[in-house]
Amino acid sequence: MHVETKLVQAGVGRDEKTGAINFPVYYSTAYRHPGVGESTGYDYTRTGNPTREVVEQTIAVAEAGDAGFACSSGMAAIQTVMGLFSQGDHLLVSVDLYGGTYRLFEQLLTRYGLSFTYIDMRETDRLAEAIRPQTKALFIETPTNPLMQIADLAKLADIARQHDLLTIVDNTFLTPCCQRPLELGADIVLHSGTKYLGGHNDVLAGLIVTKGAELTEKVKFLHNTIGAVLGPHESWLLVRGMKTLGLRMERHQANALQIARVLREHPAVTDVFYPGLTDHPGHEIHNRQASGYSGMLSFRVASAEQVQPFLQSLGLISFAESLGGVESLCTYPATQTHADIPKDIREEIGVCDRLLRLSVGIEHPDDLIADLTQALDRSLAVAGGVVR
Ligand SMILES: *Cc1c(COP(=O)(O)O)cnc(C)c1O
Repeated sequence: MHVETKLVQAGVGRDEKTGAINFPVYYSTAYRHPGVGESTGYDYTRTGNPTREVVEQTIAVAEAGDAGFACSSGMAAIQTVMGLFSQGDHLLVSVDLYGGTYRLFEQLLTRYGLSFTYIDMRETDRLAEAIRPQTKALFIETPTNPLMQIADLAKLADIARQHDLLTIVDNTFLTPCCQRPLELGADIVLHSGTKYLGGHNDVLAGLIVTKGAELTEKVKFLHNTIGAVLGPHESWLLVRGMKTLGLRMERHQANALQIARVLREHPAVTDVFYPGLTDHPGHEIHNRQASGYSGMLSFRVASAEQVQPFLQSLGLISFAESLGGVESLCTYPATQTHADIPKDIREEIGVCDRLLRLSVGIEHPDDLIADLTQALDRSLAVAGGVVR
């Protein structure tokens, strides 16, 4: 069966007693034991909860993994996985990265003796020289956030395996509807379920999917031991969102492609980054490893003076700090998602003061294009440019 079908059918047929199509929320934290040494399969909700299990099994099947683990946020999922590593271990990480992940690594985990080197994962030929004796894993985003750069997952996983490294992929931007890293050789997939999987800007959640019995056991231990698990109500909301993921991703992508084409023709815009554009430098690699482009794109305006009037002129599209929901949001990475990355590093990797990120929602594309066009026109007028 296709991923879309598996997602829609999440939880159906599981509540045998009532036949409920919509699997219920089990708020109970404790479970009565039938006898000494006996269990219904549920003992304590941190270790296992029936509603959470629906999410966990659905994401595991969708990502073609062996097990799923639902966490209280995307960051909690990343932190849980980092529990696999010990003092002295080193990881190679995508240089263009979600700002919160960078903050976790640099401001917290370095204090525990882990070290991280940020590299351009597109340069697979140079990967081997960055690997040290202490290196234990690759941590990859593709497309990257916010520059939408594409890394070759199969090639990276192959090099990682030759060096006995784990390959960890943050698949938040594409979801299993568009890309399944475990099928390309990765060992662990991570998600901020807050984004496309939830899809409605109403639930904070994180997911981990593992491949391999040994790794699954280790992550299961960490998930229960650290305890940053997803609550039953949030699990229910997440399942509800995941059921329509397939449909939503189609519309996100169709809208984003139209918008990317309009943006690149607008005089206020100098660059558009969207892997669905045929001249995007990662277009071919992306097409080989993914079946869609999602609704995430970024673009640069001609001058930083345009940013403020542009954001203030947006009407339909909200200036807000998230992505992947049905509502379109626009983010300014320099002061929002990437504010914790030092300015010189930010500028060097291209997350400059002229960069804006758009999470294209599922509104009618004509309305989105009208809003963007008037805001860009206005940004040019205010910044002293010429409007068409
Ligand atoms: C949002 C996000 C995270 C963090 O997830 P939270 O649910 O906000 O904790 C991690 N990675 C990526 C790519 C994200 O977009």
